[in-house]
Amino acid sequence: MSRRRPAPSSTPALTTDDLQTLWADLNGRYFDHALPPIEIAWSRRLTVAAGMFSSRGGPRVNDPAACRRLIRLSAPLLREQPNADLVGTLAHEMIHQWQFDLLKRRPNHGPDFRRKMDEMNRDGLGITVRHNLEDAVLALAKYAWRCLGCGKIYHRRRRTIRPGRHRCGSCRGLLRETAPTAHRPTAAPTMPPPPIVQMELNLDGW
Ligand SMILES: [Zn+2]
Ligand SMILES: [Zn+2]
Repeated sequence: MSRRRPAPSSTPALTTDDLQTLWADLNGRYFDHALPPIEIAWSRRLTVAAGMFSSRGGPRVNDPAACRRLIRLSAPLLREQPNADLVGTLAHEMIHQWQFDLLKRRPNHGPDFRRKMDEMNRDGLGITVRHNLEDAVLALAKYAWRCLGCGKIYHRRRRTIRPGRHRCGSCRGLLRETAPTAHRPTAAPTMPPPPIVQMELNLDGW
């Protein structure tokens, strides 16, 4: 067995094949295998939400090829989180896919969504109506830093990251302290811009 070097990129451990396997499993358990195939991709640029369902056309277009549907998962946000968050995020987006492909509706968080979410959560999937990560997870992290380059967010329980000394492990970008969750918009401390220094540190695995 060869030891692989730690991945320098922000690509999470699960491959897109793994994601498709997970998707197929959830499709069988909760959607009766009725969801048509869909592309699932990791996104390094998606940082406003952990996951996103998108389509080119509206839900009433009958030709699926004409409206490319896509589930994107945020590599920066999900990379350091437990797998349960990934499953919850994928399940959330699959409910949107179900609304779009089968109910022929524009995805929303209305009664249909809630009904399906409650059904899946009875098995402990931990889906929320938000696209962001669960407060319970983020509550553990009192501090957060965002990479000014790629947007990756580093959550820590203690203030162990020094923007003046540490750089983003993915892109070497500068780090700036930010609010630990997306739900507390006023909590961002005012920080002076980080000084530019040459020291690099791979923060992965902290
Ligand atoms: Zn949603
Ligand atoms: Zn970065």
